[in-house]
Amino acid sequence: MADEKPLSKETLAVHKGRMSREHFGVVNTPVYRASTILYRDLASVESGDAPYIYGRLGTPTSRSLEEAVTALEVGARTVLCPSGTNAITTAILSVCSAGDHLLMTDNCYGPTRSFCEKSLTRLGVETSFYDPLIGGGIEELFRSNTRAVFCESPGSLTFEVQDIPAIASVAHARDASVLLDNTWATPLYFDAFARGADLSIQAVTKYVGGHADVMLGYVTANTTYAEQLADTHSGLGLCASGDDCFLALRGLRTMPVRLKRHEETGLKLARWLESRSEVTRVLHPALESDPGHPIWKRDFTGASGLFGVELAPVTKAALEAFFDGLECFGIGYSWGGYESLIVPAHFNRSVRPFLAQGPLLRIHAGLEDANDLLADLENGFERMQTQTTA
Ligand SMILES: *Cc1c(COP(=O)(O)O)cnc(C)c1O
Repeated sequence: MADEKPLSKETLAVHKGRMSREHFGVVNTPVYRASTILYRDLASVESGDAPYIYGRLGTPTSRSLEEAVTALEVGARTVLCPSGTNAITTAILSVCSAGDHLLMTDNCYGPTRSFCEKSLTRLGVETSFYDPLIGGGIEELFRSNTRAVFCESPGSLTFEVQDIPAIASVAHARDASVLLDNTWATPLYFDAFARGADLSIQAVTKYVGGHADVMLGYVTANTTYAEQLADTHSGLGLCASGDDCFLALRGLRTMPVRLKRHEETGLKLARWLESRSEVTRVLHPALESDPGHPIWKRDFTGASGLFGVELAPVTKAALEAFFDGLECFGIGYSWGGYESLIVPAHFNRSVRPFLAQGPLLRIHAGLEDANDLLADLENGFERMQTQTTA
């Protein structure tokens, strides 16, 4: 008999969370739209062992998605949330209570910061923001009531890579949990639980959905935090629609091949941009020149297609000329879909100021032909030059 080798994540993404046998052999679990789920008889109400009870508590469609992502994460339990932002707030609320202290990375996703500053403050949870590059030095920021450390790596818009294992070993020695927004890498390129996270958060809206047509999030917990996560999630009355779960499952099947292409094209664009005189620096952890590269190389198994570019100072008119004539790149928020995007990056930092002289842009490399994308950017730079010299 062959050795029992665990299936690769590519295979899990294809095979997990399918209920073909229960659905006449149909490959994909269909969309279940349900509130009421009828019982066969009184005895089955009383027995309490019905697999499905009420729409909010799960249908075959939502359970299929939970099963698939729990397998990919190699976690204990997953809850589905109506957006990535809601997955973040649910994860935090599941580990923090009034009187607790939370350590939050300074380069977190913007809405994560405002949730801490507004809602958590109101609920009596105090947040301290920390330098994302602090590593094991985070020990000094711990207080007797520090319950959780929230990480996002690479961080939103500025792409600093965090030393999650070092942070986790400090946190665990003090009985605090580690929460990770793993949206950039997905479970395919960063193994959250193996590196010390207790709760792994994913904005499904991005790469899992993959087609710019669904808002969804999930949190997966290890066994220690599974129950309190599930309690908080059901206490808040959260659930995800059957249609959105179906789209997420459909996206998940092709995520491994899509991500490879996003990675390849992203790196090609990043290297080309690095060579341009219009560019001051490129923020992409898979580039050897990036300060986060050594930790990225140690901990990640790939890079997605999202990175930052700092331009040399330009006039507003020149920047408009660059943006407004782009043909392949769309100007818009979010990312992880099949199409290329570019947006100016705006953010707040309170601990580690990000110093840039020119505009900082965020690029998402889509699935188009890389040479078409390069040509689009090159034409943009030409329009920019014409403006500058006009
Ligand atoms: C987009 C994003 C989110 C939020 O996801 P939504 O589904 O838009 O709420 C969270 N974290 C990161 C890193 C993101 O880029």
